[in-house]
Amino acid sequence: MRTSRYLLATVKEAPNDAEILSHQLMIRAGLIRRVAAGIYSWLPLGFRVLKKVENIVRDEMDTSGAQEILMPGVHPAELWRESGRWEKYGPELLRLNDRHGREFCLGPTHEEVVTDIVRSEVQSYRQLPANLYQIQWKFRDEIRPRFGVMRGREFLMKDAYSFDIDAEGMAESYRVMYEAYERIFTRLGLETRAVAADSGAIGGDHSHEFHVLADSGEDAIAVSTTDNTAANIEVVQVPSPDGERPAPGVDMASVDTPGVHTINDLCKALNVEPDRTIKTLIVRGVDGPVALVIRGDHELNAVKAEHLEQVIKPLEFASAEEVKAASGTDPGSVGPVGLKIPVIVDAWASVMSDFVAGANEANKHLTGVNWERDVSGHTVADLRMITEGEPFVTSSGTHGNVELRRGIEVGHVFQLGLTYSKALNAEVLTDKGKTTPVYMGCYGIGVSRIVAASIEQNHDENGIVWPEAIAPFDVCIVPIGMKKSEAVRAACEKLYEDLKANGFDVLFDDRDERPGVMFSDMELIGVPHRVVIGDRGLKENRYEYRGRNKSENEDVDADTIIDFLKSRRGTIL
Ligand code: ATP
Ligand code: MG
Repeated sequence: MRTSRYLLATVKEAPNDAEILSHQLMIRAGLIRRVAAGIYSWLPLGFRVLKKVENIVRDEMDTSGAQEILMPGVHPAELWRESGRWEKYGPELLRLNDRHGREFCLGPTHEEVVTDIVRSEVQSYRQLPANLYQIQWKFRDEIRPRFGVMRGREFLMKDAYSFDIDAEGMAESYRVMYEAYERIFTRLGLETRAVAADSGAIGGDHSHEFHVLADSGEDAIAVSTTDNTAANIEVVQVPSPDGERPAPGVDMASVDTPGVHTINDLCKALNVEPDRTIKTLIVRGVDGPVALVIRGDHELNAVKAEHLEQVIKPLEFASAEEVKAASGTDPGSVGPVGLKIPVIVDAWASVMSDFVAGANEANKHLTGVNWERDVSGHTVADLRMITEGEPFVTSSGTHGNVELRRGIEVGHVFQLGLTYSKALNAEVLTDKGKTTPVYMGCYGIGVSRIVAASIEQNHDENGIVWPEAIAPFDVCIVPIGMKKSEAVRAACEKLYEDLKANGFDVLFDDRDERPGVMFSDMELIGVPHRVVIGDRGLKENRYEYRGRNKSENEDVDADTIIDFLKSRRGTIL
């Protein structure tokens, strides 16, 4: 490709709404352009990268034995009513009507459509296992589309669905996908961690998210200091507190705390540490409000709270009026003493004694509060988030300590079980001639998000540093003074043809720009290998080479440049 004939849409400035580096670089390098919030066009350079990602994903899916299909982007409401998700999905599902007034939605995911295919095409256990996948645009009306294609409303996903006769088969299909994902992310040059995402009934191997660790990630991930164990922070067990609760040491007393609304205010006003105080949070429960109590320096874990049978899911905090009705005061002054609603106490708060709590009276707190003596009838549960440095405990044992990192979710594997096959009646005959619903798994990869995540992981102050496997071009040729020198032009043209003939994706910068402009554009767009050809070097029959991740040039004999570039393949990322 010649830059003179290529839509190289590099720009100096990133737009103001580009908060994170990958978004800025994707605009500046001319990979994407915004059409509407969360909706982007892919320009030639970006499209090349997207296609390379897609092809690696496709290749490994095919290798794993999955079969590629293509399902529609527009789905009839009836199918979504059958699964119950037409009502449940909420505003992320974009609903529309056709000219006859029939209801449709834009597909945010394809369990319904694929299950419909299987219930009509698969009748016997002999046709199983099967794994059907597609690479296709999804639409989700995200509440906060942001970070460019990282959280778009329209985005490219690889979604696969496995079908098995029994739970063991489903677990095996899951394992096959898990391993395919590891190969995919390795080939993409992405450093990922498989993160246990679900502590549900089937156990820790039931759902994993694959995360790129990056500071801009939206998810909080706990990683082990000693091995590869990683989990979404929300599902990490908190170790039990050791030791008994000390006996009460002081009497309970009421103190004035005017203007105190937060734990911080409270600690300043009373000169105590946060771990001597408790927070009492009132949430909505199945039979009215419920109080959740955690230590002042801890954070409530909403997922754990939702698992409590008394609490409604998703977790909702009580309104100020509901708090007032339940406690007689405002949310900043609530405490467990004398509360007439169920009180559930985090294990670590339950071993405190002589602590500070809200007094259920405006501008007052209680000091010297003790469980049993001053509050009774409460129950104890694991309610809080793990914190950095605590032991990392999973069902398989202790894995060093917890380190907290941020992650970008690029893939998700999930054992669905019978949810959709039961709802949509996808049944097959077993070898005993009985009908049974099929066991399903679903497996997503955010293909367009991967492009952004890769840039988050691989860049420097001059621009993108693509892993070679997904770079838009392998090599660029930058001529110096080509307009004046016929020798430079001839050498560039020859190298351009030779490289193409040897299977390289080449970008020949024949724009007749100043060298500085060409260098900075080629660095910005992240081409892994660069060859510079100028009169001075040509006199000695040599070219100048530089790898995108290096800061030094190397002289290369013009006659051996092809072999040289072949030998440099795989040295960038
Ligand atoms: P998230 O928690 O990021 O919203 P999700 O749990 O909704 O993700 P899945 O339904 O499992 O995601 O979708 C599969 C994959 O699609 C995700 O792992 C992610 O890589 C990608 N993805 C999901 N939502 C978006 C989006 N809005 N923009 C780009 N990619 C997305
Ligand atoms: Mg989502």
